[in-house]
Amino acid sequence: MVLVRLPLLLKLPIILWFFFYNIDIIRCEKILDNDGNNNDWLLNSSGSGLGISQLKYHEENLYKELNIIPKKDEEEKSHNNLILPFNGTRVPGSLESLKIQDYIINHFNNTLKLNWTIELDNFQENGYNFTNMIFSLLPGNNDEDTNMNDKYLVLAVHYDTMIKPEGFIGAMDSGASCGILLYLSKFIDTIYSYDHDDDMEVTSTLAYSIGKKWHKKKNIYDFTKLYDDNSSGTFKGIKIIFFDGEEAIEKWSDDDSIYGSRHLAKKWQEQKQTIKLKNGTIIETNELDNIEVFVLLDLLGSKSDTLESIMGQRVPSYYSETHMHYGLLSTIEGEYFESNISSRMESSRIPVLDPSNLVFEQFGMSVIGDDHLPFYDYGVPILHLIPYPFPSSWHTMSDTFANLDQEQVNRWAIILSEFTLSWMSS
Ligand SMILES: [Zn+2]
Repeated sequence: MVLVRLPLLLKLPIILWFFFYNIDIIRCEKILDNDGNNNDWLLNSSGSGLGISQLKYHEENLYKELNIIPKKDEEEKSHNNLILPFNGTRVPGSLESLKIQDYIINHFNNTLKLNWTIELDNFQENGYNFTNMIFSLLPGNNDEDTNMNDKYLVLAVHYDTMIKPEGFIGAMDSGASCGILLYLSKFIDTIYSYDHDDDMEVTSTLAYSIGKKWHKKKNIYDFTKLYDDNSSGTFKGIKIIFFDGEEAIEKWSDDDSIYGSRHLAKKWQEQKQTIKLKNGTIIETNELDNIEVFVLLDLLGSKSDTLESIMGQRVPSYYSETHMHYGLLSTIEGEYFESNISSRMESSRIPVLDPSNLVFEQFGMSVIGDDHLPFYDYGVPILHLIPYPFPSSWHTMSDTFANLDQEQVNRWAIILSEFTLSWMSS
């Protein structure tokens, strides 16, 4: 991704905003210095129950599935780790890219229980082979009676890495986000494949940490409440997209960047469909019209060992159209801080989401170039989850797993999983 070049007149408000943003950085420094008292950066839990509903699930699964510390191969497999497979290069068309494609497809095909449909979008451009992967869980997949034309939520990420510098891993750009979406898919799959007619309780072993100590105890997932609240057992659909070719091959330009998203947005825009409304009117739509919100994850999970890097984790709200959804993410983050899964370290308790941090929407345009742009241009509502300013290791050889932050990875995994569950069951 890149900050799009704009005429000076349009750049001016951004420069002014950046000036005020830096005042925020100074404020934060003061707040960190005073031992956390009167800390207005910390959100209080609303206690509304809107947010985290399946804490036990996360307590049990986060550690083994999203542990960022590299292990020996067999150990990694036995832990069913979903993030470490992204600790390598993923250049479009390379053997490594094919391997990670295979890994992601196998995850949806063979480890999940529900009927996720898989769409592979292969194409060539600029001498490279690209493959977008789309995994859909729509009500129609599992229940023929439901309406296939219901709108769905898109969660998107790019899985490719830059060609140069050679050996670039792209841990936060965007390996961590890929792992988080695999975790989210398994979370959603576990919940909606739970047989609520079966009297047997779902039991499993819970491993969790308090300080440095490890404990084990029996856990019972409370999925029944979900079904009590939604007695039909149906849900709103989601599509998880892994884009190829987000990075430029030579130098970022309109023609040399976001290959995968440009291709898929155009393809879906051309996929026309006619729908008969309840009043008998027939309207023509395309696949893009079915997207209620397009959530794009990028540059999430970077380390927070300096003040600068903490500020580099903050994700503003970019679009007024989706600010309501941003608000829910922020509420969930507040509940996360109240849970026993969040870190007690003061530096780990600064929200990355802040509903007063409305950044670019007043400019009426998208300023950051990323995979959302082709969809945005066709009018799809966008929720762009990318920190700004970008973290300091962005597009450097320092973007490695050693510079990821376990707490940030965990936090985003919980926020996005619970957000998606809340949306699907609404
Ligand atoms: Zn990048």
